[in-house]
Amino acid sequence: MRILHVASEIFPLVKTGGLADVVGSLPPALAKRGLDVRVLLPGLPGVLNGIVGLKPVMQIGPVFGAAVVTLSLGKLPDSGLHAYVIEAPFLYQREGNPYVGPDGHDWSDNHRRFGLLGWVAAHLASGELDPVWVPGVVHAHDWHAGLAPAYITQNPGLKTPTVFTVHNLAFRGMFPMECHHELGLPMRKLTPHGLEFHGKISFMKAGLVYSSRITTVSPSYAREICTPEFGCGLDGVMRDRGSDLSGILNGVDYAVWNPASARIASPYSVDDVAGKKICKRALQLEFGLSTEARGPLFAVVSRLTSQKGMDLLLASLPELLREGAQLIVLGTGDGDLEAGFRYAASVNPENVAVHIGYDESMSHRFMAGADILLVPSRFEPCGLTQLYALRYGTLPLVRRVGGLADTVVDVNDDSLAADKATGFIFDDAARHALGARIRDACAFYGNQDAWLKVQKRAMLQDFSWDDSAMHYEELYRAL
Ligand code: ADP
Repeated sequence: MRILHVASEIFPLVKTGGLADVVGSLPPALAKRGLDVRVLLPGLPGVLNGIVGLKPVMQIGPVFGAAVVTLSLGKLPDSGLHAYVIEAPFLYQREGNPYVGPDGHDWSDNHRRFGLLGWVAAHLASGELDPVWVPGVVHAHDWHAGLAPAYITQNPGLKTPTVFTVHNLAFRGMFPMECHHELGLPMRKLTPHGLEFHGKISFMKAGLVYSSRITTVSPSYAREICTPEFGCGLDGVMRDRGSDLSGILNGVDYAVWNPASARIASPYSVDDVAGKKICKRALQLEFGLSTEARGPLFAVVSRLTSQKGMDLLLASLPELLREGAQLIVLGTGDGDLEAGFRYAASVNPENVAVHIGYDESMSHRFMAGADILLVPSRFEPCGLTQLYALRYGTLPLVRRVGGLADTVVDVNDDSLAADKATGFIFDDAARHALGARIRDACAFYGNQDAWLKVQKRAMLQDFSWDDSAMHYEELYRAL
């Protein structure tokens, strides 16, 4: 079975968030099951530098405002899977964030940059671009690839089934209606039953309406996005698609996220967690934090946004510090949240530290050195950091929402008695609720025997791709 994955980012070549981790690890997990999987990527600098042995397959263009467009084929550096790359320097040869320019605004031609991605996917599906390899299923990820199903259905002769995976419904890929001229979309698709959304074009809605099946990245989020609270205005579309929508939990690449092999101060494993204390001390020293704190070290590795509940955390900080705990933050995001954390660190240098930036290797040091990972999200499609934290024996403290609710078992009398607890959960997206659970976690930290037991259980949780890849395979076969 030939499956083409279409996405804008892929770990380790281009990454802004969890999407890259999934696109980097799901295709190899499917290949391990015997499927013939390839990926299609825009030729961003990280992709061009990272793909091995890139060779032209077809000269396309001029299209989508680019004079020179070449479809090339190479191999992914780790898995060796085939990767198609759209080489269109005019559209993609830009350093930095793939979606946003240096001025902090979205690139004004994003509709063409990602329209082209969907368009090439459709033409690969039709067999015109590479007759040697024609996919049986096209699997598109998030709004960037949302036009792939729309272009495929534009050709009545083309019956390739499509799967569209929603990684975050909040990013709907919205563009002015006038853009449709540049995208070659027919008028009949530009209606509220098609990809029109409040007078604009939504690439996300295109994916939702025109795909054969929709998946999202956790069972809870699949239910939540059918409600107005989490549906971002698209809950009606989700309800209409009803039985075509399902939730398949993301997995973890444990070859990457492994405290026994990561580049950390002292690698450790569930059989011998002694190294974790050394990692904690090293992290405290790296950031000038006191090594004498009586409370646990809380960490954040996240986009600093209100989706991630970072404003709630800032508001709860006094409570955290009253418990004698410490906080260390790695992230980038909203300017006022960045400033808030910076200020907190400047007035509590012994107990609060912040690194504003994106740093993959530092994220491993955070996971290894912290006692607790905070993920107080308002909504969370799956969330990967709590899964990484579990494997590193860092107990997640999360809000009961989306994939967080599906992957963490709250510490309480029942779960402790049943040997199930793996972290801490709170319910209301409110400062006092988060603050109360932070206090509980600090109290539980006082009982080191009980802590160690939960920590070891956390490290033994298995969120590898095996199960999830099997569910995707079932879905492809059903199509
Ligand atoms: P989202 O995709 O919504 O941002 P996820 O939890 O699904 O959230 O995935 C986030 C990914 O990005 C994880 O791999 C996490 O480790 C990584 N990450 C987030 N912020 C940073 C940062 N500042 N530095 C390094 N890695 C980060």
